[in-house]
Amino acid sequence: MREENANPARDARRERAYIEVSLGNLAHNAKVLQAAMPPGCQLMAVVKAQAYGHGAARVASCLEGVGVKAFAVATADEGIALREDGVKGEILVLGRTSPDRAKELERHSLTQTLVDFDYAKELDRQGVPVKAHLKIDTGMHRLGVPCESQEEAEAVFGMKSLTVCGVYTHLCCSDSLRPDDVAFTREQIRKFYRLLDALAGKGITIPKVHMQSSYGLWNYPELACDYARVGIALYGVPSAPGERTRQKLDLRPVLSVKARVALVRTVKKGEYMGYGREFQAKEDCQIAILPIGYGDGIPRSLSCGRGVASIHGKCAPFAGLVCMDQLALDVTGIEGVAPGDVATLINDAKNPGTSAPEVAKRAGSISNELLSRLGPRLPLLTV
Ligand SMILES: *Cc1c(COP(=O)(O)O)cnc(C)c1O
Repeated sequence: MREENANPARDARRERAYIEVSLGNLAHNAKVLQAAMPPGCQLMAVVKAQAYGHGAARVASCLEGVGVKAFAVATADEGIALREDGVKGEILVLGRTSPDRAKELERHSLTQTLVDFDYAKELDRQGVPVKAHLKIDTGMHRLGVPCESQEEAEAVFGMKSLTVCGVYTHLCCSDSLRPDDVAFTREQIRKFYRLLDALAGKGITIPKVHMQSSYGLWNYPELACDYARVGIALYGVPSAPGERTRQKLDLRPVLSVKARVALVRTVKKGEYMGYGREFQAKEDCQIAILPIGYGDGIPRSLSCGRGVASIHGKCAPFAGLVCMDQLALDVTGIEGVAPGDVATLINDAKNPGTSAPEVAKRAGSISNELLSRLGPRLPLLTV
């Protein structure tokens, strides 16, 4: 993803299709989230996958500017890139890093997640001093030392090369308020605290503790942790439209996707448009071609009217199949659409159908996937 300086003027970077990122809204969200946490809890900004398509370097440096001191990434390489961009705060790598890269973790002062006991032993054996957070599996069964394996967890704290400065778990259904999901989540929380108590009972000083991601914070705000690892909420949108959460937060969407009309043409009644002849004009139609497609991260599943874009304040459905680099809008009845006009595909505030959660839902997915797949071909402009 290219990141370039803000310049609101119409310029080459706005010539085709582009992402606009509102750093003002990002900073606002960080403040709202920080205020929603119990005292002593800090925001750990999750900036993996190019900060969910928003540009990791720019997002992290903006957040450092408003006092955020902790970040999470998926891979060591994402962490190293942030260091090279001058990020000073703590950077937690959430995924596994090959133990033979221990020196890189040390050199860039990255904090490594211990994804299970064997991994911790192998990383320790490298003999390189590495900061680490121990991950505990409380029921998601993805990464982590099982919460039942108290002796393994205990042993990790005694490992010579590793400084265990955090311990965390991940809640796998904290987004749901269904009674059985709430019961499951409460059980995860209980198991996590029980393990921490047992470790404390063995004389281990419990380091920084964390378990909530965005939905954990939305639905279990009372948990007194040292960090909340917040991703999607930081970017100002829920994963899906209209979701109920226990805590209501005044968050603002940060990202928009826009494209300029390449040309407008009439497709005569009965004629076809696009691959597979999927669109057939029922009457004479005005079609606007946008130079953006699935190669930029616009899901192909939005084809044939499932997706819409905002243009001239109106809502225009996608016509036919989304192509790799182009898609068509049916702008019949929308006056005066011309080459160079800007259409908004994601997040026109005046058109709720273009909100990231709504677009993602129409594509059969969630905002997190939609945003994180936005392609590197789209220039990233801050506004
Ligand atoms: C991605 C991730 C998060 C952030 O999740 P959101 O739902 O976007 O807030 C938190 N913790 C872990 C372990 C993750 O992988």
